[in-house]
Amino acid sequence: IISFYEILSLQNIDTNTVPGGIYEKQTVPWVEILANMAIPLLSLGILVWVFMRATKSSGGLFSIGKSKARLFAKNDQNKIGFADVAGADEVKGELVEVVDFLKNPEKYRKLGARIPRGVLLIGPSGVGKTLLARATAGEADVPFYSVAGSEFIEMIVGVGSSRVRDLFAIAKANAPSLIFIDEIDAIGRHRGKSMAVSNDEREQTLNQILVEMDGFDSRTNVIVIGATNRPELLDSALIRPGRFDRHIKLDLPDIKEREEILKIHMKGKPFSDEVSLEKIARQTVGFSGADIENMLNEAAILAARKEAKFIEPKDLTEAST
Ligand code: ADP
Repeated sequence: IISFYEILSLQNIDTNTVPGGIYEKQTVPWVEILANMAIPLLSLGILVWVFMRATKSSGGLFSIGKSKARLFAKNDQNKIGFADVAGADEVKGELVEVVDFLKNPEKYRKLGARIPRGVLLIGPSGVGKTLLARATAGEADVPFYSVAGSEFIEMIVGVGSSRVRDLFAIAKANAPSLIFIDEIDAIGRHRGKSMAVSNDEREQTLNQILVEMDGFDSRTNVIVIGATNRPELLDSALIRPGRFDRHIKLDLPDIKEREEILKIHMKGKPFSDEVSLEKIARQTVGFSGADIENMLNEAAILAARKEAKFIEPKDLTEAST
């Protein structure tokens, strides 16, 4: 075989004099290949970077499905009991039973009773639902796992249910124990009524909670307390017998209870003699426990700003408006 150039030279044609020119075949154009690969490589890099960032907040790629529950261990220094919750005597009365289930399960088992698995605390925000749940665990002296419903839901489908599985596995391993799920309506809404994008994810998460609760046998000594301020939104599957079948309602504190809440949170703060407990209690109609605590804190800040030694009635008035 003879090459094209050889044919030309046999015919005495000088390649340099041909109009337009004839160039020798170029060697492999590395630069071009690299340039072509740059764009896909760059986009891959960006994708990996975005993914790493997205998973970083939840502790890396491999812990994304792990539960994010906060644990208040058994012998926690900050353990609280019913004495730290003012008022709400009826609610405490019902929760005393839960404490007894956790402490003496045998008593109920011997009589063939099924220990309740789920308790629903219903009431506006700030009335002390979290506080009461923590106090219940404190009274029973069991570990307390606290998590908010919204924490289960991530952009990635399947994460929520895997977190639920993880949480229940930990709680069961440390039984007797208590799981608290705040804002349970974030997961337990009526199915198919929301426009949210993460509908599938929510449903899977809810199903996993139901599966876990149904899977408790008579030996499992784990009680789940859920909190919500919108019980009418909850899926009926969630409140069926054997699941969250005990409902306890909490209301905003009345004047007597507000006085007691004030007493608890006024401890450790210096008030002038003119401050009247009764008067503040009367002035704070419609305040929740959290509002009262917040008001006292604001008043203390106002007084500190004025370099005062005591908190005066007008600081309280100012703080409550
Ligand atoms: P919820 O879970 O119902 O929104 P929390 O339990 O988080 O309310 O309450 C918030 C804060 O309000 C508590 O940490 C506590 O300081 C205060 N508080 C609410 N209710 C009471 C109460 N009955 N007695 C004492 N403090 C209360």
